[in-house]
Amino acid sequence: MIERPRISVAVPLYNEEDGVTELLWRVGAVLDGLPGGPHEIVIVDDGSIDGTLRLLESAAAGDGRLTVISLSRNFGHQAALTAALDHVSGDAVIIMDGDLQDPPELIPTFLEQYAKGFDVVYAQRMQRKEAWWLRLSFFLFYRIFRQLSNVPVPLDAGDFGLMSKRVVEALRQAPERHRFLRGLRSWVGFRQVAVPVERPARAAGTTKYSLRRRIGGALDGIFAFSILPIRAAAMLGAIAIALSVAFALYALYAKLALHESRSGFTALTMLITFLSGINLFFLGVVGEYVGRVYEEVKRRPPYVIGRIIGRPAR
Ligand code: UDP
Ligand code: MG
Repeated sequence: MIERPRISVAVPLYNEEDGVTELLWRVGAVLDGLPGGPHEIVIVDDGSIDGTLRLLESAAAGDGRLTVISLSRNFGHQAALTAALDHVSGDAVIIMDGDLQDPPELIPTFLEQYAKGFDVVYAQRMQRKEAWWLRLSFFLFYRIFRQLSNVPVPLDAGDFGLMSKRVVEALRQAPERHRFLRGLRSWVGFRQVAVPVERPARAAGTTKYSLRRRIGGALDGIFAFSILPIRAAAMLGAIAIALSVAFALYALYAKLALHESRSGFTALTMLITFLSGINLFFLGVVGEYVGRVYEEVKRRPPYVIGRIIGRPAR
C-alpha cells in the first residue's frame, strides 16, 4: 500500500441541484484534512435536466481538484459510476452517492483500513432511514442474492467504499454492460473489509430510483451473478417428468389389472394450465438471459460522454 495515497472521490449525480453545493463543500473539507495529494473529485453528471451541471461548472472553475464528466443523456446510476471509475487517477478511489447518504466524513476511516493493507473497504449499512417496505426489500434482496450468487457478496453492502488502484483496474477489465458494481467488486477478490455505518436519510432532493428501476437493478444483479434460475427450470422439469411417469405407470396398472380407466376432466385441465404456466414462466427466465446476452454482444459502450470539464480528455 502507498504511504501517502492520492485519493480520488467518484460521485454520480442526477438532478441533485439541491445537494451538490453541500456535497462539494463537505467532500472538499475532508480532502483538505488528508495528508498526501493532490487529491481529486470526479463527478459524473448523468444527464441532469436541472441546474446540477451549471453548479458543477462554476464549482470546477474555482477548484482545480474537480473534474466533471458530463454524459450525453441519463444512462443510470451504475453506468455513471462506470464512467467515473474510467476517469479516476488516484491510488485509492472512494465511491459515494451524491445525496450525502454516504457521509464523506467516513473517508479517513476507510483510509485507515487501506493503510492496514486492505484493497477494498466497504460500508456495511447497519441501519437505514428509509421506508419500512424499502428496508424490508433491501434486507430480502441481499439475502436472496447471497443464496443465488456464485461469488460471495457481503450482506447490506452498497457501493459506498474505497477501492485500491489495482481493484479499479481489474474492474475496468470487466467490460460487461449490465453492471452490478458491488457484485463485481467482490468478484475481483483481494483483501476486503467492512466498516459498519448507519445510513442517514437524503440531505436534499428525492430519490432518483423509481420502484421499477430498483427492481431492474435487483434483477441485473441476480442475472449477472447466477444461472440458478435456469437450473431451477431444469430441476422443475425433471420433477414434472418423474411425476408424469409415475402417473402413467399407475394408469396402465389400473387399466390392465383393475380394468378401469382413469378419468377426470378437471384434473386434466388443471394439469395442462399449470404446466403451460410453468413452461411460459421459464421461457421468460431463459429469455431474460438471452436478452442479456444480446445486450452484451452488441458491445455498445455503457455511456457516452458529452464533455469533460476541468481536465483535458484522456
Ligand atoms: N443517480 C445517477 N443516475 C441515475 C440515478 C441516480 O447518477 O439515473 C445518482 C444519484 O444522483 C445519487 C446516486 O446515484 O447520487 C444514488 O441515487 P439515489 O440516492 O436516488 O438512490 P437511493 O439512495 O435512493 O437508492
Ligand atoms: Mg440516495
